[in-house]
Amino acid sequence: MQETGKTKRAFEMLSELLERACALQTALTLFEWDNETLAPREASALTARTQGVLSAEYQKIMIGEEMRNCLKACDGEDLSEKEQAIVREAKKERDELCAIPPEEYRAYQELISRSTRIWTEAKKKQDFDLFAPTLKKVIDCQKKFASYRAKEGQKLYDVMLDDYEKGFDMEKLDEFFLLLKRELVPFLHEIQKSGIEIDDHFLSGNYPEDKQREAAVLLAGYVGFDFSRGVLAVSEHPFTTNLHNRDVRITTNFKERVDSSLFSVIHESGHAIYEMGIADDLTQTLVGQGASMGMHESQSRFFENILGRRESFWVPVYEKLQEIFPEELGEIALAQFVKAVNKVSAGLIRTEADELTYGLHVLVRYELEKELIEQDLPVEKIPTLWADKYEEYLGIRPQNVSEGVLQDIHWAQGSFGYFPSYALGSAFGAQILSAMEKEMDIDRLLADGRISEIREYLRKHIHRYGKRKPARTLLKEMTGEDFNPEYYVSYLKGKYGKIYGLQS
Ligand code: ZN
Repeated sequence: MQETGKTKRAFEMLSELLERACALQTALTLFEWDNETLAPREASALTARTQGVLSAEYQKIMIGEEMRNCLKACDGEDLSEKEQAIVREAKKERDELCAIPPEEYRAYQELISRSTRIWTEAKKKQDFDLFAPTLKKVIDCQKKFASYRAKEGQKLYDVMLDDYEKGFDMEKLDEFFLLLKRELVPFLHEIQKSGIEIDDHFLSGNYPEDKQREAAVLLAGYVGFDFSRGVLAVSEHPFTTNLHNRDVRITTNFKERVDSSLFSVIHESGHAIYEMGIADDLTQTLVGQGASMGMHESQSRFFENILGRRESFWVPVYEKLQEIFPEELGEIALAQFVKAVNKVSAGLIRTEADELTYGLHVLVRYELEKELIEQDLPVEKIPTLWADKYEEYLGIRPQNVSEGVLQDIHWAQGSFGYFPSYALGSAFGAQILSAMEKEMDIDRLLADGRISEIREYLRKHIHRYGKRKPARTLLKEMTGEDFNPEYYVSYLKGKYGKIYGLQS
């Protein structure tokens, strides 16, 4: 009995420390949101100083003596499953912060801020040579940091992958991406050779911004984004951020092609619904966010693609969309609209990729990252290798580096090992769909306007747990099976085989 009493005290002390750290983190998140949406252009330099102070205070708490003692006192004592998860996440965060000497970390942050600036310029000038020397430095730093954290015999790229998706190392991912390459590349080529052209001309045209905004609000609300706990703003690149489960924010932007903003808002709403669905007793703790990057993407893509590109999804809402855009969509039948938003067209830009080709964009990045980190591939060779791979897998070749290797900001920011999560998310989604279909008639529910029942199912099996369980465990408990990428491939081949009249 005495033991339990002592443990509680240690955990409570830990909770108080973490509450302070979490408050600082929340303030930092709010600044990030503000910088991307409403902050005036001139604000950034001075605001950065405030952010620097808050960030240093956060680090001080996490790596401090008090935190170390608290975590030690919690060790091996009688904690509930939720408390254990919080201790585990606190240790992980602390270990990551402690692994890198502070002066090296500061130098690295400066390097990254320089590197993203140079990347922006290089992209604008279509000049890879301008960026190459800095990219090399970023990679060297990343490798050094990974080596500080590597366990005995662990490969450096595996250390990086582990940061984003626990339980998915190169061995597991090689299997996954090989399957995509073997199955989807020839399938795409078959579609390309079929000569079938889907008419989607009506998706671009006169779609005024205020009307697009109206449609965005309509769709976010329809899928279940709760506007009393969230807001929608405009930013250069759409994203979701959350302060806690009562304050989740999404952004979108409006382009000439209307489907771009329609589906990006459904996508971000999927992320937001995840965060809004996290249990009240977890929010504002270290386990009060989505389980992993990949699981997050599985939810956003589930709403965007698996639900959002089905005809049944649009049955209750398509007429309202036509009312918003009477001239553009008034004469377009629902079936025609749905066909158009499922058109396969292999492009060069990942963020604009359709559902079928998306994974192949990620495949290219995975293969190159592996070589850069594990085989010391010289950075000068990336542009040509990149172009060769696009030609081989997608059948198109970038004409310049800006639509090739310089399109993503990730490497400039030092995010190596991040890309695979995007493709894993889609694959998780297909496996989740297959399990759901055994219990419910998805098309029936959607057509009847009962999307809330699907959302509730996801909340019950995934959202409410936050980070309490790893993504792979959640997936296994929900579907009764360990991660199995075959579902993803057969989902895609089944769906697009039907659209393009191919035998799968
Ligand atoms: Zn996303």
